[in-house]
Amino acid sequence: MKTSDTEAETAEHAATDPRPSNFIRDIILDDLKTNKYNGRVQTRFPPEPNGYLHIGHAKAICLDFGLADEFGGHTNLRFDDTNPEKEDTEYVESIKADVQWLGYRWDGLFYASDYFDQLYEWALKLIRDGKAYVDDLSAEEIRKYRGTLTEPGKDSPYRNRSVEENLDLFQRMKAKEFPDGSHVLRAKIDMSSPNLNMRDPVMYRILHAKHHRTGDKWCIYPMYDFAHGQSDSLEKVTHSMCTLEFEDHRPLYNWFIEQLGIFPSRQIEFDRLNLTYTLLSKRKLLQLVQEGRVRGWDDPRMPTLSGIRRRGYTPEAIRNFTASIGVSKTTGSIELAMLEHFVREDLNKRALRVMAVLRPLKVVIDNYPENQVEEMDAVNNPEDAAAGSRKVPFSRVLYIEQDDFREVPPPKYFRLTPGREVRLRYGYLVTATSVVRNEKGEVVEVHCTYDPATRGGNTPDGRKVKATIHWVSAAHAFGAEVRIYENLFLKENPSDVEEGQDVLDNLNPNSLEIITDAKVEPSLASAAAGMRYQFERLGYFSVDPDSNPGKPVFNRTVALKDTWGKLEKKQGGRS
Ligand code: ATP
Ligand code: MG
Repeated sequence: MKTSDTEAETAEHAATDPRPSNFIRDIILDDLKTNKYNGRVQTRFPPEPNGYLHIGHAKAICLDFGLADEFGGHTNLRFDDTNPEKEDTEYVESIKADVQWLGYRWDGLFYASDYFDQLYEWALKLIRDGKAYVDDLSAEEIRKYRGTLTEPGKDSPYRNRSVEENLDLFQRMKAKEFPDGSHVLRAKIDMSSPNLNMRDPVMYRILHAKHHRTGDKWCIYPMYDFAHGQSDSLEKVTHSMCTLEFEDHRPLYNWFIEQLGIFPSRQIEFDRLNLTYTLLSKRKLLQLVQEGRVRGWDDPRMPTLSGIRRRGYTPEAIRNFTASIGVSKTTGSIELAMLEHFVREDLNKRALRVMAVLRPLKVVIDNYPENQVEEMDAVNNPEDAAAGSRKVPFSRVLYIEQDDFREVPPPKYFRLTPGREVRLRYGYLVTATSVVRNEKGEVVEVHCTYDPATRGGNTPDGRKVKATIHWVSAAHAFGAEVRIYENLFLKENPSDVEEGQDVLDNLNPNSLEIITDAKVEPSLASAAAGMRYQFERLGYFSVDPDSNPGKPVFNRTVALKDTWGKLEKKQGGRS
């Protein structure tokens, strides 16, 4: 990918690099040292286009592309499209967009279907070598014959067909002479192997299905296990990273490579990402979409990359998160709070601060001139001096957050309450004097007085106030819709279900709250879809594509409170 590093620079870079290594990086460093692949690092990311990518895939992408980048290597994007019934070009396009959004550019773009002719030739070779045979057993029978972890399997009665008969049958399978399920091609390995994957695994099945790339050309399709390793080999992949569940498949991939005498890619397995309160399975996510439990693959509550993008997460935050969790050989679960911590950390640096009131309460400043409007200076981002400042209009009638006023304050409540003075951010100090109620007795308006000597929030006499609250000018603010998201699942492990229940029974019925009449400051008039802000004191918000001119829609990306950051501090910092 990156071509600026010379080999010498790469080696030096590796020697002085302060970043924590991991076992995969160490393997690559070793291979570079021994010149195993002539200094080459070639990886690939191999998604199946049967759904949208999720945050778990981001871990694999950052690893595949990140490691190749670090060592001046190359990464291919390869679609493992061996399952025509479940695959679709919509998924292909979304996957490409997601990889690019994360900030990576592939070198080669390939499809396992590009290799169907070659795979077919290799199947013929294995048949000729007596290493593969056509079986007439049904899928059910094959399962029965396979045995279990404690019992060896049984040979199929068709296992010892002659090479000629096998060749003839396999060619006729391809020539569309047989119906689905009537025959399969199996590798002839060992029905008593302790590894079930080695008990004559199926290489090809008959499937009269239209493929999104090869159309009607084929009615036999290679199994993933017969396509994956050879695809790696054809692309001369040096380090083929995948998740731990494929560890037991590695002997099979190596067996095919040896029988065919082709380039030996090395498979390295790492732990799959699991996140608390989150489901990471394309199959289950598809179910949420199909059953209308969410608004689509890009619903901001979804852990898909398109969902979290719409929600306002940044690619930088996700890359930092994946770098921080590292890789290992044992599967665990990462706190969702940790991912959110990285989102906050990144947005804190880049998001412009604005004022917005989600649940407005009217405030009238009785001693402020009726038609006066002042333009107050407001800092755009205290973390970034270059972000500058803006003007925010201040006037006699404002909105504040309902939560920021209590007629009878609970203990330790320092915000607005009758007789108490508070600071309006960038505005003046005000003191509440009286309230107006509706017929139900609820406070609908608070009356205040202001101190004209405190413009900008300063006190010339040095007196202190305990709270600063945000506000918008009623005449200048405009209405917005704000969507507040909570975890999609109630349980830390969504798959933890009672007997007879389904993960979907663990869905949080309150994962979406829609506020239709929030009030936001006028500088947000120009907010375009995708822009991200910090609403002061409330959280980070991004502009949703559902926005209309004059009526923006905001997604709450994440609230301000950082439980993970706090926990980390308590534990004495991240190691
Ligand atoms: P799912 O179970 O969600 O359908 P998958 O593994 O079937 O995922 P693929 O399209 O086959 O999805 O995945 C492409 C690559 O991403 C594989 O190398 C796979 O190992 C990796 N991957 C998938 N899920 C995760 C995860 N949760 N954490 C890390 N890597 C993952
Ligand atoms: Mg898969």
